[in-house]
Amino acid sequence: MSENVVHERAQQLISQERIEGLSASEHTWLAAHLQECDSCADFARKTSTALRSLQTIPIALPAGLAERTQFRVGMRAQQLRQHEPRRRVLWIAAGISWATGVASAPFVWRLFAWLGEHAGVPKLVWEMGFGLWWAVPALIAAVVLLSEHEKQSGERYWLQRSQ
Ligand SMILES: [Zn+2]
Repeated sequence: MSENVVHERAQQLISQERIEGLSASEHTWLAAHLQECDSCADFARKTSTALRSLQTIPIALPAGLAERTQFRVGMRAQQLRQHEPRRRVLWIAAGISWATGVASAPFVWRLFAWLGEHAGVPKLVWEMGFGLWWAVPALIAAVVLLSEHEKQSGERYWLQRSQ
């Protein structure tokens, strides 16, 4: 590794430490580098000072450092989000629940109709029951997606606040 790459890696790890933590070997490597490299040690100190003051008073930061820190931290967060397939899984789950609903609707309709005929359930009641059964998976999917959205707005709020 050339000198520059070493410092780049050290600074990348310093940012990463704030977001997702480091593995034991990365931590050891970084600690060793910080011991022998003044400029990276300085960067680490400034990063933690910057992040601390970002959480309290968002002024009086060394020029440019706030943006740099924010940029690295933001990039890291974005990288992590891109790798997170949870949203896609949710959409797939919602899709499957709809497809299952469509596929089984005739059978469930017949089941509800049978209940109406043989168990003496009034027509309006079993028809409503069918309607509800039909809506439940969609409702659950909607609630999950909405709460996911809530959480993301929360994150965005936090990011905006710390700017
Ligand atoms: Zn260095």
